[in-house]
Amino acid sequence: MLIQNQVDLKNKHTFSTAATAKEFIEVENLHQAEEALRYWKEKPYLILGGGSNLLFLNSRIDRVLKIDLQGWEPVAETAEHIWVDVAAGVPWHDWVLQSLDLGWYGLENLALIPGNVGASPMQNIGAYGVEVQECLDSVHVIDRQTIQRLKIENKDCAFAYRSSAFKTQWKDKYLIGSVRFKLEKKNHRIRTEYGAISEELLRMGVPPKSATPKEVAEAVMSIRRSKLPDPKQIGNAGSFFKNPSVPEQVAKELLKEHPQMPQYPSENQGMVKLAAGWLIEQAGLKGIREGDAGVHSKQALVLVNYGKASGEEIWNLALHVQAEVQNRFGVVLEPEVNAI
Ligand SMILES: Cc1cc2nc3c(=O)[nH]c(=O)nc-3n(C[C@H](O)[C@H](O)[C@H](O)COP(=O)(O)OP(=O)(O)OC[C@H]3O[C@@H](n4cnc5c(N)ncnc54)[C@H](O)[C@@H]3O)c2cc1C
Repeated sequence: MLIQNQVDLKNKHTFSTAATAKEFIEVENLHQAEEALRYWKEKPYLILGGGSNLLFLNSRIDRVLKIDLQGWEPVAETAEHIWVDVAAGVPWHDWVLQSLDLGWYGLENLALIPGNVGASPMQNIGAYGVEVQECLDSVHVIDRQTIQRLKIENKDCAFAYRSSAFKTQWKDKYLIGSVRFKLEKKNHRIRTEYGAISEELLRMGVPPKSATPKEVAEAVMSIRRSKLPDPKQIGNAGSFFKNPSVPEQVAKELLKEHPQMPQYPSENQGMVKLAAGWLIEQAGLKGIREGDAGVHSKQALVLVNYGKASGEEIWNLALHVQAEVQNRFGVVLEPEVNAI
């Protein structure tokens, strides 16, 4: 096991703020992962995937365990479905494209989400009306305390909107080694009703009803490229805040005051979902900049690092956004990004 010291993390996370790990271990298989877990058993350490959902509040991080487990293999198959184990370090988008190439469907709406497979259950990644929980069979983990390998079934993961037990009651309990997906080979129903997918398909000359899953993925990729800042050009971690849910009565009052306010059904009964980006924009914060930390000028939900912002500066801007939205609408925005 190679322990590296004073490792620069700037290029290992998409906000690209300056940060250094005092100790850094990279693991490429489960045995190495277990060895590292034993070594740091009594100490706190950060598990790092692709670094696309993190903000380092402090530029000195004591210990980082980088997960670089690679590979995937089908483990069961019927005429209609296939079950595939995919290692945690596989880049998410590569896996989506690979599955579509092989005629295994279900992940097409989740194309081009940055990061690695191992983090996908953490916040139950979602986009364009689909969440990973819909194609996830189980998660293979190592308990960070007992160093035991376990398989956790989908139903036990407490998946919810941008959340799971891995992010809540099991926070820091498990290392995710691989994810087992259950994908469709036949009779797959594409989902084009959300966002601008149908419009994009039409623009591509494809009638939405007869689009293939690959064409849906292409439409999603094209929309995402036009809407979201590329972290290679400008540091960011995608949506900084979750879309908040409020009780129906509160939503009605808000609508009386702000008739243009977008509101959506929530997965929780008696609640209504609001668009965090709209709230931020209406609070007059879209495009604001404090030093090198900013609210993106096209996507109010995305906070950005224009170059030399520190994690703390971006966090202070996030707190300012939170306070202004609360002042204006009485709604509290909850960060989606993991502040470390
Ligand atoms: C431009 C952009 C667009 C985005 N769009 C979306 C989107 O549409 N939908 C969406 O849901 N997300 C989106 N995201 C957020 C992000 O890409 C996802 O949350 C992604 O799953 C994070 O993966 P990662 O490997 O980078 O995780 P990291 O940022 O490295 O880690 C995230 C969390 O997971 C933990 N973790 C990572 N790997 C493991 C493991 N193997 N075992 C245990 N814990 C682990 C980390 O400790 C941390 O707490 C976007 C981000 C960016 C930059």
